Amino acid sequence: MISTSEATSIIQQNLWKPSSELIPLLTSNNRILAENIVSDRDFPAFDRVAMDGIAIAHESFEKGMRVFGIEGLQAAGMPQQKLSSVSNCIEVMTGAMLPSGADTVIRYEDLKISDKRVEILSNSIQKGGSIHRQGNDSKKNNQLISKGTIISSAEIPLMASVGKTTVEVCTLPRTAIISTGDELVNIDENPQPHQIRKSNVYALAAGLSRFGIEAHFFHLTDHEESIRKNLQTILSNHDLIIISGGVSKGKFDFIPDSLEAFGIKKQFHQVKQRPGKPMWFGTGENKMVFALPGNPVSTFMCFYQYIEPWLLKSLGAPYLPVKAILESDFTFDLPLTYFLQVKIKNEGGRFLAISIPGGGSGDFVNLKDTDGFLELPEGQFNFKKGEAFNFISFRK
Ligand code: AMP
Ligand code: MG
Repeated sequence: MISTSEATSIIQQNLWKPSSELIPLLTSNNRILAENIVSDRDFPAFDRVAMDGIAIAHESFEKGMRVFGIEGLQAAGMPQQKLSSVSNCIEVMTGAMLPSGADTVIRYEDLKISDKRVEILSNSIQKGGSIHRQGNDSKKNNQLISKGTIISSAEIPLMASVGKTTVEVCTLPRTAIISTGDELVNIDENPQPHQIRKSNVYALAAGLSRFGIEAHFFHLTDHEESIRKNLQTILSNHDLIIISGGVSKGKFDFIPDSLEAFGIKKQFHQVKQRPGKPMWFGTGENKMVFALPGNPVSTFMCFYQYIEPWLLKSLGAPYLPVKAILESDFTFDLPLTYFLQVKIKNEGGRFLAISIPGGGSGDFVNLKDTDGFLELPEGQFNFKKGEAFNFISFRK
């Protein structure tokens, strides 16, 4: 049996290699950028008027002039106008180009306008005020966004403004989620007393949806022959295969042997952790199989502890580990890494982790009252209030 850090390291050494594809900008949210985005113009592209008001030559104000004639109007979308006399001003609107000959904008709030004249009411008008200078935010040909970035609503408008109608993103693994077990029925069915509705596959699909992965669902019964009959096609048609159940020591846990029979190389089986001890991981040619124990909290925890960081790394995106502080003493006396279910309280910017014990790895009702897991390392048995540990969050 290996430790959680060995398991993580083996998984991270077996990354899936994506290629790239062009997709419409609007469908790129949450996808991972596979190209660098370079600006084709300065940001802003011209000296941009930042307030509705007037534009003047500041030298006139410095000389004591307070009343100006209105020479014209520069609205947003109009080609650049010219201020021909320093004793005049041009009315300007937010988003317009600064007229040539003007160097300062004064907002309407500081003006009194009558007929064709304007009086400046303030005595402290800064030269260059209320102008958003060309190239202030970024210069033409600068790299705006680098590949590997997870596209969010902050990147999409930037890409729109440089004219990217389509974006190159990393392809996603063709993913299969497989439930196993004769006790499971579909969620639109009425279970018999000895049956339950399959819920793990929905947990996994929800976890994958963050990446835009739309997994295919499959079900395998607890019969070795039937597993072997169906598994081969699923394995050959997918890059990422996540199986829930059938990997423990039960009489009907045929998954590990069946996977190996189809050439999936076992990388490890069993991790010194609770929950999730029976976890199995194997690889084929740019193909990874995560076979997770079926207990709902085990499947859930293993997804966020192992599969989510592995996916981020495979796609070239950053994974930022977070720590949280134990809010009260906790004891766990087995030589295993314990993933404690916790609720997070933000206390003055510090993440405090409050233990929400629950009824073990079968109790997934408890998960709704938690925010994630605190990773309490193997070998330590007494965990003290105030100590910081890795926090695995599932609420993004
Ligand atoms: P197993 O890992 O196959 O021994 O399953 C362990 C426990 O998890 C059993 O109580 C199963 O009924 C339950 N289980 C397995 N798969 C699912 C699933 N997809 N949804 C809900 N419970 C499951
Ligand atoms: Mg089972």
